[in-house]
Order: sequence, then structure tokens, then C-alpha cells
Amino acid sequence: MSKIEEEKKSFRDRLNQVSPSFCLAKWLQVTMHLHSGHNHSCHHPATHKTPLEELKFNPSALHNTCFKKDQRLKMKSGARPAECQYCWNIEDLGENYFSDRTLKSSEFWAAPYLEDVASLSANANINPTYVEVSFSNVCNFKCSYCSGNFSTRWKDEIQRYGSYPTKSGEQTMEILSEDNNPYIKAFWEWWPELIKDLKVFRITGGEPLLSKNTFRVLEELSRNPMPNLEVAINSNLGVSDATFQKFLALAKDLTENKKVKFFRLFTSAEAWGEKAEYIRNGLDFIRFQRNLESFLQEVPQGQAIVMSTFNALSLTSFETFLAYIKSLKEIYTKDPSHCPIFIDVSYLRHPTYQSIQVLPESYQNHMKEILQFMESRQIHKNDPGGFYFFETTKVQRIYEWMKQPLAEADLRTRRKEFYSFFNEHDRRRGTNFLQSFPEMRAFWDQCKELN
Ligand code: SF4
Repeated sequence: MSKIEEEKKSFRDRLNQVSPSFCLAKWLQVTMHLHSGHNHSCHHPATHKTPLEELKFNPSALHNTCFKKDQRLKMKSGARPAECQYCWNIEDLGENYFSDRTLKSSEFWAAPYLEDVASLSANANINPTYVEVSFSNVCNFKCSYCSGNFSTRWKDEIQRYGSYPTKSGEQTMEILSEDNNPYIKAFWEWWPELIKDLKVFRITGGEPLLSKNTFRVLEELSRNPMPNLEVAINSNLGVSDATFQKFLALAKDLTENKKVKFFRLFTSAEAWGEKAEYIRNGLDFIRFQRNLESFLQEVPQGQAIVMSTFNALSLTSFETFLAYIKSLKEIYTKDPSHCPIFIDVSYLRHPTYQSIQVLPESYQNHMKEILQFMESRQIHKNDPGGFYFFETTKVQRIYEWMKQPLAEADLRTRRKEFYSFFNEHDRRRGTNFLQSFPEMRAFWDQCKELN
């Protein structure tokens, strides 16, 4: 066992002393979707709505809902909240696999508070130290695995053409406008209190760079610096040049003048070129590369994180994409103690027909090659632009997860849905699956036959 694995194991032992399902992210991390009034802790469980009456005298109910307090109670008593299945899937692979329960809880924004949180009553309100917020679902993309809840383009498409046969992408939440939203109002009421305990603040969307509240936060921080706060913004890097330049100027100001502790740009891609554009409809891959590289160039003290939601369409070009990320690491790593860019790979679970588990067993070899590609390019003193252990380990666990067999009937249903969704996708979006993924023809035909 490596030193890092030993540290993880020892931290997991500390968590398990409180209870075998205790996870600090349930108390200290929150994602608030203010455009719908939903929230979750962490970002893996399904969201739940914050009842407006809970907010009346307590804006912290944006995080401390009665529902969440019930989940905390379960964790404290050693029960596994069903909403945390993402982690239980990994933990059930065996004790050599570390779920996000351990990984998140051992982060700097969580680990120092272990004893404090363990001694709190499950019913107590707590200010989170890691906040992720979305102000609006306005988005210029309609990624295949997204929905009208997070993308206005998805909503528009379904309004125009009706439901997909798979019911994919439907808007299931009531969406509030950014201008008249009681959740955003409560957020700004809570802000002066919230900011005091905050270690990480991240803005997500929709596309955050299309929201005026994103720029309000950045301008607020520019006027009232928070040198202990890490700030992060998600962006699909597909906004207009003028908007991106405005964002870059603020990011430069915050970092060069040390107005925040650290600045991160999170972006997303999980394949290369045309294949990435197919998965994330609206993406212009060349613009994506240009904006990503501008950020690395213009904000050298910052960091870019590429989130890859690894799915069935990622597999055949992921190695090329990794080679690109590696080349950026090599160009922009000026100081070995500062990593300018890394990749964070998670596995797609929903929609289930797009998860890598639908693929035939033969695809496991691709996954093995991807893993070997990363393992043979680990960071070391002669290669400061190599991959970190934490980058590789996430791919390793996806490889293990991919190998878990599905029940035959489930597999058949998912493959049928795979074809019906992408066939309809091609029809209404003017795309062509086989043109973008010619190497997947045999699998496509197999799914088609089931229909
Ligand atoms: S147990 Fe896992 S899914 Fe649940 S809050 Fe913790 S990290 Fe998130």
C-alpha cells in the first residue's frame, strides 16, 4: 500500500470511529441550485427542494433543510442514506477502494472539523465550508446527459419537438427567473455570515458566465478581498469573446492582487474534437481549447480543472484527450509546486443507457489502455507535467466499476434506449452518430437490432 493510500485508510478509520457511514460532506459541503430552490450535499445525491417556509427566519436553510438533517441523523447512527449510493457502490468493491466519503472528508475544508461536526447534534444548523451555487439555468449548450433543469437550450428543444422516447432531458423542476427569486434573495441575506466560515466558493450553472450574479460575486470579491477564500467558477468556455475577456480581467485582478487565496476554473470535456462536440451539443472544440489556453496563459497563478463525466462515448478518444491535457501540463507547469491544470474523471450514472456499463466486454481493453497511458506518465521529478496519483486513481476505479456485470434484461433495456435516444438526437439536432463514432458501428448495430 502506498503512503497516500495508507493516509486515506487511516482517515477512513477516523471517520468510521464516528460511524461507518459518517461523511463530513453532508455537513460542510453544499450545492445550492438557487434557480430551482433545490440543494444537495454533496453533489452526488439527488437534489431536494428547500421549502420556502424553512427560509423565512433562517437563510441557512438553503443548506440546513429538515430533509438533510434526517440524512445526517442516519449517518450518525451508522445507517447508509440511500441518496449516497454513489459512494456505497465504490465502498462495496472492497476496502482497497476509497469512495468520495473518504476523499471529500479528508479535504482541507473538511478534515480539520471532524471532531466539531461529530459532536454536533444532527439537528443543528451549520455553516458549510464548501459552497457551490448556481444562480440560473441559462445555458448555451445541451449536453447529452443534461436536462432542462440546467439548460435552457434543452428546455427549448423539448418545447419545440416534444419528449424523447426515453424521456431524456425533461425539465422536472420549476425554474425561477434570476430577477425575482426568493432563493437568490435569501442567498444574499446569508452571504455576510456565510462568507466568514467559507473556505471554498464555487459558482456553477447553467453557464455561470451568462449570469449577472456571477459577475456580482467576482466584483464583490474584487472590492472586499477574502485572502483565505478559494474561488472557483465553472464554465463551458463557449461564451462570447467579450464575456470571456471580462471574466479573464476579473480573474487576473483577483489573483495578481492576491484578493483571494486561489482561483480555479472548472470546465468540462470527456472526449476529443468532434466526439466531444457530439456529447456536449453547443461545444466548439477549437474555441474551448483557445479559451482554456488563454486562461492558463493570462491567469498563471490560477488553476484549470477539466471535469470529465466519463461515459460510453468517451472511451474511444479519451486517450487523445488525455495526451492534450498532458501537453498543457508540460507547457504551463513553470513551478513544480504549482499544478496549472489537472483532470478530474467521474463516471456517468444517468442517463443509465449512456453509462460505460452498456458497452460490450471488448471495450474494457480500451479502458485498460487509458489507464496504462496514465500510469506510464505519472508525475515525477523528471516529468513535472505528468499525471497525479489522484487523477489516475479515479480512472482505475471507473475501470473496476465498468467490469461489474449488469443483469441481462437491464443491459438489453439500456442498449435499446441508447439507440432510441441517439437516433432521435441525430434526427432533431442534425448530428450523425456513425459519422462521429464510426469505430462504434458494431455496437450501434447491436443496439439498433434490439429496437
Ligand atoms: S457519502 Fe458520498 S455521496 Fe454522500 S455526501 Fe458523502 S461524498 Fe457525497
